[in-house]
Amino acid sequence: MKGKRVLIINRGEIAIRVAKALNELGLVSVGVWTDNETEPPHLEYCQEWVHLAGSDNKDTYLNIPKIMAIIEKYKIDGVHPGYGFLSENKEFSEILAKNGITFIGPNPTAVYKMGAKDISKQIAKEAGVPVVPGSTGEVETIEEAIRIGNEIGYPILLKAVAGGGGKGMRPCQNEKEVRENFAAVQREALSSFGYGALLVEKYILNPHHIEVQILADKKGNIFHLFERECSIQRRHQKIIEEAPSPFIGNDEKVRLDICETAVKCAKAVNYDSAGTVEFIMGEDKKFYFLEMNTRIQVEHPITEEVTGVDLVANMIKAAFGEPLDFKTQDEIHLNGHAIELRICAEDPISMLPAPGKIVGFETTFPQGIRFDHCIYPKYTITPDFDPMIGKLIAKGFNREVALRKIRNAVHGLVIDGIKTNIALHKVILDEETFKKGKYSTSYIGTIKPQEKVAPKENIEAFMLKVAAIELNQMSGRS
Ligand code: ADP
Ligand code: ADP
Ligand code: MG
Repeated sequence: MKGKRVLIINRGEIAIRVAKALNELGLVSVGVWTDNETEPPHLEYCQEWVHLAGSDNKDTYLNIPKIMAIIEKYKIDGVHPGYGFLSENKEFSEILAKNGITFIGPNPTAVYKMGAKDISKQIAKEAGVPVVPGSTGEVETIEEAIRIGNEIGYPILLKAVAGGGGKGMRPCQNEKEVRENFAAVQREALSSFGYGALLVEKYILNPHHIEVQILADKKGNIFHLFERECSIQRRHQKIIEEAPSPFIGNDEKVRLDICETAVKCAKAVNYDSAGTVEFIMGEDKKFYFLEMNTRIQVEHPITEEVTGVDLVANMIKAAFGEPLDFKTQDEIHLNGHAIELRICAEDPISMLPAPGKIVGFETTFPQGIRFDHCIYPKYTITPDFDPMIGKLIAKGFNREVALRKIRNAVHGLVIDGIKTNIALHKVILDEETFKKGKYSTSYIGTIKPQEKVAPKENIEAFMLKVAAIELNQMSGRS
């Protein structure tokens, strides 16, 4: 494996993470950049750089012919896709296999089988895994959706089979809402994913998003690395993750059950890389298969922190047919607690993307904080890419310690010049329900950040008031 040349078809923090792992293992990291990226920080971590000409993602990070030309010209042996972009693209993994290029991810059949939400649910069901009640396969008409709605009971969720990133799904409370929303969700699915097909699912109220990390080699060994709780979400997209799940707590029976169920799903598709099986868990701790992500996930660091396993390095080893760092499931242990905050260039109240130029960036962190990020002072965040600019990660002996560390860390993170969700994280970390670990996916809707996130002007006015009071006190004393 040493000396193999690996192209990273991604950018931002994940490109940096992958480059670091490649360099450490003695492979050659080759990075790319496009016309709308000026001084991208990920290139600093790569040993070689190749220009991927163009500024629209369709012409760059999603353009298979252009990427294949680079692979040939620069004698590339393997490709790491990161997350998003081509990471779960069946055509890409197939073309690489045909050309004898190592895809640092699972085999193309697993990518295909777990790629569409309807097919993957069918596979999970056949493997004896409970799935969210709903349609079997694609639902083509409004009438069919309504028939299923009446059968399973409202509310239901209309969901794009090709969906990802929380896009292409809408809950409906009744028949009328299905009629109103069906065509719109189809259109959204078609424009976001190039495929308009929908499925219908029971919309579970106040559930927990709990997922299990899988790591497998090319010889049929499949392991789990315990679970993560990702229920703090906005627009069905995660913003805070924890490992292990505070909701499962010390219920070791449920923990073992969900982890072994995830392994069952991975086995059903002969999984052979790092991947994640996502479940939705109700208040009664019953869980249902949601989907499998056949790639490295944004929140992988918290699992690395609590298991000590370098997921990206092991994913690279698996792809090149090398043994993993461990041989048996018994060697993997949960140790302590980790929390991750996704730091996004977005308005902390509307939670919508807010690109712009950073004018100041400083960190004062407690011992042991991990900040996987892609920014520097004067870095510009463009609207062309995902607004996530970093992940702040803290590990502690237990949840209480991890919470204290992450709270101190986020107060020591200063990013000026752009709007970020740092203020929102501060509100959540001080909020009682979160502190108790008793939150579901409806949590964000309950905290009313608009009442709690102080705009900068208010903070300044408040500081002036404090200064005036102090001045008064001082004069009173004299
Ligand atoms: P994770 O489960 O790793 O947190 P997310 O759902 O947050 O994954 O997605 C990670 C990144 O990949 C985001 O930038 C998201 O927009 C992108 N992404 C995920 N799935 C898709 C998809 N099917 N099509 C396009 N982008 C996707
Ligand atoms: P994506 O591919 O976009 O990640 P998922 O199917 O994983 O789509 O769902 C993303 C999130 O949407 C889940 O974490 C959960 O919060 C919510 N969700 C999805 N399906 C359901 C459902 N049937 N009931 C309630 N919430 C759901
Ligand atoms: Mg998901």
